[in-house]
Amino acid sequence: MNKIEHIGIAVKDLEVSNELFEKLLGVPNYKMEEVLSEGVNTSFFKSGPNKIELLAATSAASPIAKYIEKRGEGVHHIAFAVDDIVAEIKRLKKEGFQVLNETPKKGADNKLVAFVHPKTANGVLVELCQEAPA
Ligand code: ZN
Repeated sequence: MNKIEHIGIAVKDLEVSNELFEKLLGVPNYKMEEVLSEGVNTSFFKSGPNKIELLAATSAASPIAKYIEKRGEGVHHIAFAVDDIVAEIKRLKKEGFQVLNETPKKGADNKLVAFVHPKTANGVLVELCQEAPA
């Protein structure tokens, strides 16, 4: 795996949190994007070399809605950049990790993504992401 691509934070209200993170980081978000497959609205911030993704549910069935119901707002996942997501999924499965989607799916920000179940990673939801071919 390469660098941390971004950190995902689950929030209840994207507008409120956009203002909060703009104050915190000193920069406005540079992009908002709805990810239909995940039932979320996302908002992205860059701060120095770092990227933060805010995620808010668009429906009660969204994984983010369920997450907030159980655990409240907060750090939701850590995303690592990978060069070859298919090879990385294969490697992690061989190492005994449970990969939630074995076929990479389209995530926000033009990425192919896959998630590792937190129960097999010390409670951390790990996202793999690879720049999607243009
Ligand atoms: Zn993410």
